[in-house]
Amino acid sequence: MTLQIELNGVNKFYGAFHALKDINLAIEEGTFVALVGPSGCGKSTLLRSLAGLEKISTGEMKIAGALMNGVPPRKRDVAMVFQSYALYPHMTVEENLTYSLRIRGVKRAEARKAAEEVAATTGLSHLMKRYPRELSGGQRQRVAMSRAIIRHPKAFLFDEPLSNLDAALRVHMRKEIRALHDRLNATSVYVTHDQIEAMTMADHVVVMRDGIIEQQGRPLDLYDRPANKFVAGFIGSPAMNFIPAVVGEDGSHVALDFGKTQAKLALGRGLPPGSSVTAGIRPEHIKVVAEGQGAFDVPVGFVESTGSATFITSATQPELTIVETGRGGVGSGDIIGLAIDPVQLHLFDTATGKRIE
Ligand code: ATP
Repeated sequence: MTLQIELNGVNKFYGAFHALKDINLAIEEGTFVALVGPSGCGKSTLLRSLAGLEKISTGEMKIAGALMNGVPPRKRDVAMVFQSYALYPHMTVEENLTYSLRIRGVKRAEARKAAEEVAATTGLSHLMKRYPRELSGGQRQRVAMSRAIIRHPKAFLFDEPLSNLDAALRVHMRKEIRALHDRLNATSVYVTHDQIEAMTMADHVVVMRDGIIEQQGRPLDLYDRPANKFVAGFIGSPAMNFIPAVVGEDGSHVALDFGKTQAKLALGRGLPPGSSVTAGIRPEHIKVVAEGQGAFDVPVGFVESTGSATFITSATQPELTIVETGRGGVGSGDIIGLAIDPVQLHLFDTATGKRIE
């Protein structure tokens, strides 16, 4: 496999502000990469740097093996797709599609043929004579995609392309974009703050915070083995529960600290006795059992049901969120037992947040 995008030690300063800190990325051809992280973490800066819209301060950036430092955007052969679509309102769909080819000197008939081919792939053939204002949000997004595809770029760069769409259309479009990526055997970098979008669409997820890469890898590897508390809390929905805990004297169990009460949980591994740690338990990894039958009991604070799933919040400090499939049969004020498989228990160093193996 050849590397399509390579970043080595990339830093970006806006004046004194350090927006990208020593970023290293190696993206193979054909990969769908998602950049995720909270607002301000630097994901758009990274994407815009790839597009050449921002100049990196130090480091090396390569696309298809060629060094991109100092190369202007139009010479990079990458296509950006924005949430705002950036369509020309006074042009029809067809004109929007052919425009970028026409300004590169492609003949009208040839450009039109290319537009028709792309439109057939993206399901726009019947809309070629419409203006952007006559299209739905999803259709506009498809035009924006088509306009990128028609140029056969070396990489597609997506900047939160679905954030203007309603929930149902987002789900539909994320499948569509991923299918298109596969069909074109494209290399895509996709910025989103939505971890579900990242997990479902990408082959490789990059989690950023404050300008650094906290962790990168396959989506389920990040879910199963988050490198630190930040990634653990960011990947997964509802978010992982975190409880302060102390490793017991023989090192074989951990005591979860709920203030007034403590709960003992067996550890699948030996740890230094007496050490303070943060225990992490995913809501979907807690099983509700009868009072006295689990590892410990908790009072139920409140219960929410979506029909297919039940979300239980314990009346403890800190609270625990528990997700059960189905309707449950639990009400506020009940005392329930909780069973937790030690294999599903994550432990983090309380001071550094790093995962403890
Ligand atoms: P969001 O999800 O809110 O779009 P992001 O992760 O994409 O966030 P960036 O837009 O990359 O974040 O911004 C990263 C940081 O750099 C932010 O703190 C932002 O304020 C800062 N920043 C971005 N552009 C500039 C600029 N032109 N001048 C100064 N600071 C900037």
